[in-house]
Amino acid sequence: MKFLLRFLCFVAASQFALAARAELRAGAATVNVTPALGIEINGHVHDELRARALVLDDGATRLAFVVVDNCLIDRAVFDAAKALVFQHARIPSNHVAMSSTHAHSAGSVTGAHLSEPDAEYRAWLPRRLADSVRLAVNNLTPARIAWGRGSVPQHVFCRRVTVKPGVTYTNLLGLTGDRVKMNWSSPEPAVDGDFAGPTDPEVSFFSVQHADGRPLALFANYSLHYVGGVGPGHLSADYYGVFCQRISELLGTEKQDPPFVAIMSNGTSGDINNNDFHAKLPARKPYEQINRVAEDVAQEVFRVAKNLEYRGEVPLKVASTELKVDYRKPSPDEVARARDLMKDRDRSQLHTWPEIYAREQIILVEYPEAASLPLQVFRIGELAIAQWPGEIFAVSGLDLKKRSPVQPLFNIGLCNGWYGYIPPPEQHALGSYETWRGRTSPLETNAIPKMTQASLELLEKLK
Ligand SMILES: [Zn+2]
Repeated sequence: MKFLLRFLCFVAASQFALAARAELRAGAATVNVTPALGIEINGHVHDELRARALVLDDGATRLAFVVVDNCLIDRAVFDAAKALVFQHARIPSNHVAMSSTHAHSAGSVTGAHLSEPDAEYRAWLPRRLADSVRLAVNNLTPARIAWGRGSVPQHVFCRRVTVKPGVTYTNLLGLTGDRVKMNWSSPEPAVDGDFAGPTDPEVSFFSVQHADGRPLALFANYSLHYVGGVGPGHLSADYYGVFCQRISELLGTEKQDPPFVAIMSNGTSGDINNNDFHAKLPARKPYEQINRVAEDVAQEVFRVAKNLEYRGEVPLKVASTELKVDYRKPSPDEVARARDLMKDRDRSQLHTWPEIYAREQIILVEYPEAASLPLQVFRIGELAIAQWPGEIFAVSGLDLKKRSPVQPLFNIGLCNGWYGYIPPPEQHALGSYETWRGRTSPLETNAIPKMTQASLELLEKLK
């Protein structure tokens, strides 16, 4: 009897879904994910870390976005959160886009060469991420949507700079094969100042309003690694948090109940930072550069958002797949050399870059032969959103934007998982930090062409 009732309810719900097709509803919410002092940081919390969630529903399909103030979140953490979302809100995992901002001052729940996560915080986070979606679902209300694109070229720079022809450059690992170098430091004799790749200056966004025209949420996307320059020992959401604050102010959303929610996601910024290699920038006070970038990006979004046409009937679509991509594994010789260098010392006793990367080889040797990458694309009306589980170079994001059969498109990086930097083959050939084999760069050199092809096939399904 109970089963029959449930079945009838299900039929009724489906009928309702068909009748209400494409009538948009939206809900948004944030939850505080700031760790206690002593977990990620012992210094000071400058601004609270948040998970920001937005749920869209067209009567037939429900999508959820969550963007988390954290540097690195791997698939296991996102999958645990998505399982809870399905359990409590019945949204399937492949309808949920969860990503980290990559703010370097927000701690990390995933181990990489320079840090290991706090186990307790890592275990605590999924439930909070799921909560953000459940709260957003509670806020679902009739809505309308529009999307736009602006350009903020002055804050993005390719951080990989070419080495002068004929010059032999010794990298941090003591090796001489790299033909590019990071722009972290000031210009030096080995570097000729040419950028090794393009930037993507676009700031893409979609804006959601209540049916009566009041702002409900705004989801933005910009391809910038992070800004940095926080106070000493500070925990902070970097420019992502300040952008959300500023666009909320510009749109005049204070005192709304439930509150307006702004979200800034990371795009394809694996090789893009905020350091202008050619300019001699004056020393900045803490947060000065963060505020500058946030202000410019928010003003550009606000400018474009003024002239949008909103629609209340927008179909939502999803396509997803699992893509097998090989890991780059160290050879038995390389493993033997790594063990030799480490001399059975643990992490706290390893200090030089060759020692740190020796440990990475010992970790990688335990990895399976291949990774199964979660690839997803969403469609909101004409707008397509591709989701990449790693740090993707700008050139690869631009390539998918250009080739997508659904236009326009934007890319969310560090989404649904983290498989390190994923440089395209021609950038692997140039070497440097993003290509050094370790947890920060574990995948085969041909991963990007495979991922691009798979994403194009998913987009084709949504055409
Ligand atoms: Zn990074």
